[in-house]
Amino acid sequence: MKFSGSCLCGSLKYECSGEVKMAGNCHCLNCKKATGSAYAAVLFVPEDSVEVTGEVKYYQSTGSNGEPGWRGFCPNCGSSLFEKPGPVPGTLGIGAGSLDDLSLYKPQMDIFTSRSPDWDCMDPRLPKFTEFPPEG
Ligand SMILES: [Zn+2]
Ligand SMILES: [Zn+2]
Repeated sequence: MKFSGSCLCGSLKYECSGEVKMAGNCHCLNCKKATGSAYAAVLFVPEDSVEVTGEVKYYQSTGSNGEPGWRGFCPNCGSSLFEKPGPVPGTLGIGAGSLDDLSLYKPQMDIFTSRSPDWDCMDPRLPKFTEFPPEG
């Protein structure tokens, strides 16, 4: 699979040639703050399959599991594009809203649903996890 995307101002772009390992909607409090929205729609790919053009700034935060994570955003327009989960090195999360072809995003689950208010409406067809999904 090959796909591309960009930030709002267009100065930060990426191209990915890897397989999507996981895709889902994360409703954790960090994702709410980072996106300014109800949840983050993210697809995870191998980090080395992504080619980034333009400047990206990373902000380190502590994830819901207590481990560090990094959020990558465009220093010019502030669009939140990337996520590097500390516990899974070599994996890059890409914000689905940044995709050039939005139909490529196929969410598999909703996670951290216990953190969501009533107005965070979810697709009833997707499996729900109140916290992080169990391993395996
Ligand atoms: Zn930008
Ligand atoms: Zn999250």
